[in-house]
Amino acid sequence: MNTYDVCIVGAGVVGCAIARELMRRHWDTPLRVVVLEQHNRVAEETSGRNSGVLHSGIHEHPCSLKGQLAREGSALAVSYALEHGIPLLRTGMVIAISWDDIRRGLWREVSTLRRLFVNAWRTNIRVSFLTPSGLRAWEPKLRACCGIVIPSVSIIDPLAFVQALKTDSEATGVEYAFNNRVIGIDEDATAYIVTTDRQSIRAACLINAAGLHADDVAALALRYKKYTICPVRGEYYELVTPEKKSLIGRLVYPALPPQATGKGIHFSPRPNGQLFVGPNEVAIQDKTDYTSRKTPPSLFVEALQKFLPALEEGDLEWAYSGIRPCVITGDGRKSDFIIALDRENPPLINLVGIESPGLSAALAIAKHVAELLCVQKRFNPSRGRSLSSHDARMC
Ligand SMILES: Cc1cc2nc3c(=O)[nH]c(=O)nc-3n(C[C@H](O)[C@H](O)[C@H](O)COP(=O)(O)OP(=O)(O)OC[C@H]3O[C@@H](n4cnc5c(N)ncnc54)[C@H](O)[C@@H]3O)c2cc1C
Repeated sequence: MNTYDVCIVGAGVVGCAIARELMRRHWDTPLRVVVLEQHNRVAEETSGRNSGVLHSGIHEHPCSLKGQLAREGSALAVSYALEHGIPLLRTGMVIAISWDDIRRGLWREVSTLRRLFVNAWRTNIRVSFLTPSGLRAWEPKLRACCGIVIPSVSIIDPLAFVQALKTDSEATGVEYAFNNRVIGIDEDATAYIVTTDRQSIRAACLINAAGLHADDVAALALRYKKYTICPVRGEYYELVTPEKKSLIGRLVYPALPPQATGKGIHFSPRPNGQLFVGPNEVAIQDKTDYTSRKTPPSLFVEALQKFLPALEEGDLEWAYSGIRPCVITGDGRKSDFIIALDRENPPLINLVGIESPGLSAALAIAKHVAELLCVQKRFNPSRGRSLSSHDARMC
């Protein structure tokens, strides 16, 4: 049986980022790290099926892990992309209120912009308020009455990002075992015995970055169901009409009423020149259901025609969908990221509910995990420092 210091379950952006981060640290002895992945390559699930936006964190509560780690992680991801030649589109993000919204009750959307402004002020994110003419300067064809712009927001190619993290971590010795689905986890006093459909391995520390299946993997390790992931699908259509594709060049999001659960269907340009619209939010039962009962394009046109009247159903072609691994709290809202040291001996770290902005936050999540006491103290006693799970929430 192969023996490792750390076993990471999941080769999405989070698992690959953690693997890379662990190898970058100067441990007392070199680490042996393995990443177990059920598919035959990285980013086959949520990490390869998103908008690629490196969020500023402005949509999140300033004290939340989502907000703090997105802010830190996005800055790290931009530097990483520039260093590694990963395609990056640096357009900034416009959040706008349409004239139609005004007719329906401006106060709700204005209160959203106000909240975003306050978040930006509290966290030092640079934003500017835009009047109709200011908006025209950013997006000449956009019809909107006012909005804000966050110039720092970029869009990354998510697949290239995760592949680079894998290549990087492999170069420093991380082993990737693809086509290995984790089906059983046992532990003794010093290690986990992780069984996949192909092999068993022994690891002194287990990090669960299994995305949509993190609740099931946590249950295997803990022997009870501590977490429940509620899958929420987000669908995309591509704007394919050549003369209309060039009408919008930046990320344009709607200002949603405060009770809205997501960030809203938006114009989503990509570094390779494609323009998508989406994603929506559809609660589903099956974590692998990417396509049944697709939302018709008319609903996407309805959501965005108010900003771009020229947009028609015939301009849109079904593109793809992704599934958010949401954890829903008692009041029906999406929970913050959960990064929990659920067992100290042997260490078990569960990462659950890493939905949006998890891509943005990945490099900061990896730093955060590496700082956790169990990892520090176990593998680097001379540098270990005390960090409780309360400190881990940072705010
Ligand atoms: C529609 C949509 C749009 C989004 N847009 C953005 C955005 O613009 N910006 C942003 O920051 N975030 C965005 N996100 C969120 C972001 O994509 C996720 O937070 C991020 O990809 C999560 O990465 P992960 O590595 O935790 O999970 P995953 O990418 O799901 O990786 C987990 C891996 O674990 C593997 N696995 C699971 N179970 C097992 C098992 N038993 N054995 C072995 N392997 C297993 C899976 O196969 C998978 O490869 C979006 C998400 C969606 C769905």
